[in-house]
Amino acid sequence: MNSLRIALPDDFHAHLRQGPPLRAYVARSAANFGRFLAMPNVVPPPVDGRFLADYGAALASAIAGSGRDARVLLSFKLVPGMGPEAVYRCAEAGAVAGKYYPAGATTHSSDGIAEPGQVSRELAAMQEAGLVLAVHGEDPAAPVLGRETAFLPVLDRVVAAYPRLRVVLEHLSGAEAVAAVLDWPDRVAATITAHHLAYTIDDLLGDRLDPSFYCKPLLKSAADRSALVGAACSGSPKFFFGSDSAPHPAAAKAAGAAGVYASPAAMPILAAVFEEAGALDRLEGFCSAAGARFYGLPEPRGELLLERREWVVPGELDGVVPLAAGRTLSWTAYRT
Ligand SMILES: [Zn+2]
Repeated sequence: MNSLRIALPDDFHAHLRQGPPLRAYVARSAANFGRFLAMPNVVPPPVDGRFLADYGAALASAIAGSGRDARVLLSFKLVPGMGPEAVYRCAEAGAVAGKYYPAGATTHSSDGIAEPGQVSRELAAMQEAGLVLAVHGEDPAAPVLGRETAFLPVLDRVVAAYPRLRVVLEHLSGAEAVAAVLDWPDRVAATITAHHLAYTIDDLLGDRLDPSFYCKPLLKSAADRSALVGAACSGSPKFFFGSDSAPHPAAAKAAGAAGVYASPAAMPILAAVFEEAGALDRLEGFCSAAGARFYGLPEPRGELLLERREWVVPGELDGVVPLAAGRTLSWTAYRT
């Protein structure tokens, strides 16, 4: 197969940042995705309706400037003490999800949650409002390669305590997390990134240290990658795409920031992963259908054309070293 048309993909996990670079990051996302769920780890964090509406307006203006037909989906940051009323105000301001960051787990998460009892009233309000709980599932106190597995019992308790709450475990990275998601009821799903599907810790550390592959949760073993590919290519509606695209300018990256600028190369990388697994016919379900269905959104409008044509990922895009910089990918992607 030399080309493939799929319904326009959605990205259910994107860090679009704020300030002047936001326009370029939004335009880059809108080049391949019709909708993207904006993560709320900005400063100050969107923890009430007004901040969230302001951030949504900045993102909508950037989309308008890109000339693309795209839509941003909003999430608020769940923080201890925000109160149920703020949850309802975020829902009124258009939020579809609230993001749970364990304290200290990733960029701008020092105000995160130490244990779920700190946000029990807020979680009950999210359940009532029909909002999705999007979870960065890592325990920052555990050794770095075991953080995701260490967090699974915490999430297990949340799933049991709120029997109608819809939950997404974000950016799955290991085989244990895949098994846990399969065990939980259908109201629990997961996003998987292109980089966790295509690469392992050897791409980050095996030859020389390559910070363009440094993200949280860390890329893991070949066996973990194979479990993720099995899940993504299975056709299960519990697994769908979220890029976790998280651009950091060169100076921040040099200072050790975790996060990869994944959105520019994500779709060509995914096409290669699904092709290698003999599952190109399931790419559309993973990128363009399962997530929208879980979030209760209409089917996507528009198409993405994937062509088998080599593309060398540039060393820099939008002032950032992108995922797979300098590597030759076998597919290219265009919106049509
Ligand atoms: Zn993220």
